[in-house]
Amino acid sequence: MNKKQLLEFVHQAEALCKQRKCRLTDQRKRVLELILSAEKPLTAYEILDQLRESVKNPAPPTVYRALEFLLQHGLIHKLESIHAFIGCTHPDHKHTSQFLICNDCGDVNEIENKAIEKSLHSAEQAAGFKTSHPVIELLGTCSQCQLSNSH
Ligand SMILES: [Zn+2]
Ligand SMILES: [Zn+2]
Repeated sequence: MNKKQLLEFVHQAEALCKQRKCRLTDQRKRVLELILSAEKPLTAYEILDQLRESVKNPAPPTVYRALEFLLQHGLIHKLESIHAFIGCTHPDHKHTSQFLICNDCGDVNEIENKAIEKSLHSAEQAAGFKTSHPVIELLGTCSQCQLSNSH
C-alpha cells in the first residue's frame, strides 16, 4: 500500500468510526498505520517492536486493546495460521473472507468467495454448529513465486 492509499484508508477508517460512534484514538491509528504500511502481515510482537521506534515504552496491553478494537471494527484481519495481522481492503461491510497466504514471499491475498461461504453455511446448518469465528486460510505459493521458482 502506498502513502496515498494509506492516507485514504485511514481517512475512511476515521469516517467509519465516527459513523459507529467510536473513536480512532492516536494509539489505534498508529497501530493501524503500521499494519497498513507493512509489506507483510505483522505479528503483535513486531507491531510492539516497531512502535518502540516512535513511542517510549509502548505498553503491550494497550497494543492488544488497539488490535482488538481494529479487529472488532473490521479494519484489520487476524491470520490465525501465522499469528499476524493485515489491513482489510473493504472494511465498510461485514464479510467472511478467505486468505491465500504465500509461504515463499509472505504475500497475503484476501478474497471473498460467496460459493465457499454458502457451502460452509449449509455444512454448519447440517451439523447444527454455530460458528463464531470462521478461519479460512490457504497456505501455498502465489503466482509470482511460482513464476520465479520455475526460472
Ligand atoms: Zn476484509
Ligand atoms: Zn509469493
